[in-house]
Amino acid sequence: MKASNELSRLSELALRRRKTGLTKLPPVAGILRGSLMERYVTCGNPSCKCARGERHGLSWYLSVTLGPGRATGSVIPEEKVDEVRGGVENYHQVKDQLEKISDINRELLRRERSRQHKRGRKE
Ligand SMILES: [Zn+2]
Repeated sequence: MKASNELSRLSELALRRRKTGLTKLPPVAGILRGSLMERYVTCGNPSCKCARGERHGLSWYLSVTLGPGRATGSVIPEEKVDEVRGGVENYHQVKDQLEKISDINRELLRRERSRQHKRGRKE
């Protein structure tokens, strides 16, 4: 993979420095996993204008997949949209940082193993 090739070119000090930077995570207390989407609702009343295609106002919805073919979600009130959007962005940010830390740790383990291997051959 491209990312691991890039890591293999860095010094161990550079890897450790990069890792330290990645441990500074955005605020995790408000994290939300899911997709924030807009939808126009129908109220279910067959004689309402929305049943003829003229839907009610925009509402926000957080859709969350729980596994293959399983999903849930909640309606998000307008005043909570910014907060929810921030929580979703932080989720992706934290996940991305954890992946990068994990990549660095794998690279460090690989180097340690190859050092031990070389020492073993000298003896
Ligand atoms: Zn309606």
